[in-house]
Amino acid sequence: MSSDNLACPSTSDLRTQPVAALDKEGIGPAMTSIPMIACSTSLSEHHSGGSGTNKNKQMVEQLQRYGLISSKKVVEVMETIDRALFVPDGTPAYVDSPMAIGYNATISAPHMHATCLQLLEENLQPGMHALDVGSGTGYLTACFATMVGPQGHAIGVEHIPELVASSIKNIEKSAAASLLKGGSLSVHAGDGREGWPEHAPYDAIHVGAAAPEIPQPLIDQLKPGGRMVIPVGKIFQDLQVVDKNLDGSVSIRSETAVRYVPLTSRDAQLKGY
Ligand code: SAH
Repeated sequence: MSSDNLACPSTSDLRTQPVAALDKEGIGPAMTSIPMIACSTSLSEHHSGGSGTNKNKQMVEQLQRYGLISSKKVVEVMETIDRALFVPDGTPAYVDSPMAIGYNATISAPHMHATCLQLLEENLQPGMHALDVGSGTGYLTACFATMVGPQGHAIGVEHIPELVASSIKNIEKSAAASLLKGGSLSVHAGDGREGWPEHAPYDAIHVGAAAPEIPQPLIDQLKPGGRMVIPVGKIFQDLQVVDKNLDGSVSIRSETAVRYVPLTSRDAQLKGY
C-alpha cells in the first residue's frame, strides 16, 4: 500500500514542529503530530477493507516511512501488539495521537510509544526486567513483556484500579496473553512513584506520566547498566533518559520536549489535577 497520494510532510517537517497544544481533554503526550494524524486517518479511513492487524502494520510502516522508527525490533513488537486492542471502543486506534482512556488519563501517541521503545531497546533483551510506571492501557507493558520474553519480567504499576483491570483484559486479548498467564508479565495497582521493589533491580524503567522531579525509589531500583525514560517537568516537560553507570552514578540527558499527564496522587488525578 502506498500513501504517496496523501499530502504528507517530510520527516524533517515532522521533527521540527514545536510542542503542540494539548489534546481536547487538555492532557496527554502531545508532541506535534498533526501531519501524521492526517496521514494515518487517511490510511485507516480510505483503506477500511484491511483487517485490524493489517491496519496496525500499516501504522507501523507509516511511522517507519517518516523516520520515527528505525529499529527492527521495535517494528516487530509494534506489529505483534495490536494497538486497537488497547484503545477504548470507538476510538480511532491507528491515528498518531494520544487518546483519552478515562480517569483523566490517555494512551500515548504511537510515535511516543515508538520513541520510548527505541530508547529502551538495548535494555529490553530476552531475560531482562522492565518496569512500566503509569501503565494505563497496558500497551507498553505488553510490548516490554514481548521483548524480554518468558525468561524476563515486565511489570506494570498503575494507580487507578479500574485501569489495571481493563489493561489486564486488553493484554489477555493480545499476543502477550501467554506471558501474562505464565507470570512473566503482571500489572499491579499502586503508586508508581515507589516503583515495584519485588522485581528490582530493573534493566529498563519507563514512566508514562510527567514527574516534577525523578522519584528517588525509581533511581534506586534501576540496575547498574540500566536505563530509565521519564518525562520530567510541569508545564514544560522533557523526556529524560537516565542511565545508571556501573559505579552507581547516573547520567541524565534530555531527548525531546513532550507533554504528558502528571505523575501524581490518585486523588489529584481524579479531581482533574
Ligand atoms: N503509558 C500508558 C498510559 C499513559 S497516561 C499508555 O500509553 O497507555 C499516564 C498513566 O499514569 C495514567 O494511566 C495514570 O493513571 C498513571 N499515573 C499517574 N500517576 C501515577 C502514579 N503516581 N502511580 C501510578 N500510576 C500513575
